[in-house]
Amino acid sequence: IKLAVPKETAPGERRVALDPSVVAKLTKMGIEVLVQKGAGESAHFPDAAYADARLVDDAAAEADVLVKVAPPSVDEVNRMKDGATLVGFFHAHKNPELVKAMQAKKITSFAMELIPRISRAQSMDALSSQAAVGGYKAAIMGADLSCRFFPMLTTAAGTIRPAKVLVIGAGVAGLQAIATARRLGAIVEAYDVRSATKEQVESLGAKFLDLGVKAEGEGGYARELTEDEKKQQQEALAKFISQTDVLITTAAIPGRPSPKLIPASMVAGMKPGAVIVDLAAEGGGNCELTQPGETIAHGNVIIHGPLNIPSQVALHASEMYAKNLLNFLSPHIKEGEFTPDWEDEIIAKSCLTHAGEIKHEATRSLVE
Ligand code: NAD
Repeated sequence: IKLAVPKETAPGERRVALDPSVVAKLTKMGIEVLVQKGAGESAHFPDAAYADARLVDDAAAEADVLVKVAPPSVDEVNRMKDGATLVGFFHAHKNPELVKAMQAKKITSFAMELIPRISRAQSMDALSSQAAVGGYKAAIMGADLSCRFFPMLTTAAGTIRPAKVLVIGAGVAGLQAIATARRLGAIVEAYDVRSATKEQVESLGAKFLDLGVKAEGEGGYARELTEDEKKQQQEALAKFISQTDVLITTAAIPGRPSPKLIPASMVAGMKPGAVIVDLAAEGGGNCELTQPGETIAHGNVIIHGPLNIPSQVALHASEMYAKNLLNFLSPHIKEGEFTPDWEDEIIAKSCLTHAGEIKHEATRSLVE
């Protein structure tokens, strides 16, 4: 088959679906890889680095399998061959037109965000690989925006106390933010509504705040809090937040807007020069005042709401994403052909559209 990598078209997207090393691995499996000219440029993989691929002007037109990072445009889908395969992120609930276009073209689409989070699928889990990039960078952004040092410094001009970082939401991104802030020398505290995170937080050398509110949901995720629980959480958090130099928030609930954990009144109680890095900005933010995509000053506090952080670490984020794609595709590549095994839970659950049907139930009820 011909497997093609287009240049990403979403505004600000710097990543590329495959880096040259994964292209080489796929070619060894008997696949012809086509790379659109300039596709890797923004992730610092020049055309010349893709020595094992054929460089083309339009990746969509010839592809049997097209691999992408950000959701394609309807136009890109329409340029594909009928019945071709498309793999990437789709965010189907936000892109019903795209789902309809894929259905009409009988595209077989596999959504990276729908890959089940089972042990066997860990090496394919792009939500996790990209969230880790986000968490790492959030700590760096916090250090950069802060008017304070992260580490303790003993100098001739006196001793500087280390910064206090508080991480709310200790999932994949939060744990990476904790690890990075610790490496930079900050004193780190963290909080999550899932009690399983206590041990993970402590193993990274941070202190777990037990605020008495627990909300384990299904499949290892959190559930939404009740109004009473929200109130209890905010009252317990206020004291810690007023002592924090850098607050990193990552709280999310699958399929729901980001929970609003930090009201304006709590921001007003923060130290002068404190920083909030709101990693939940993509879903509206954990702080009531966050403006997604903006950095604002509210009184004496800086509130940063970055969008698509992995794109800012484009080279490594692309390498990790490419490995996820390789691990997803390779079990189903035999003698240069891609023949998905529909009995495989990972294939069945990640499939969005196939042969003119919407396979993913939640998307079907939304689109049809
Ligand atoms: P996520 O991005 O959905 O949420 C981030 C964190 O926010 C979660 O830890 C959640 O508990 C927390 N949160 C939600 N509401 C909150 C609130 N009101 N206050 C404080 N914290 C709140 O989560 P994620 O990083 O995608 O990971 C979630 C789970 O999935 C974890 O249990 C993780 O171990 C698991 N996981 C499993 C696999 C696998 O086995 N393949 C891979 C990745 C993640």
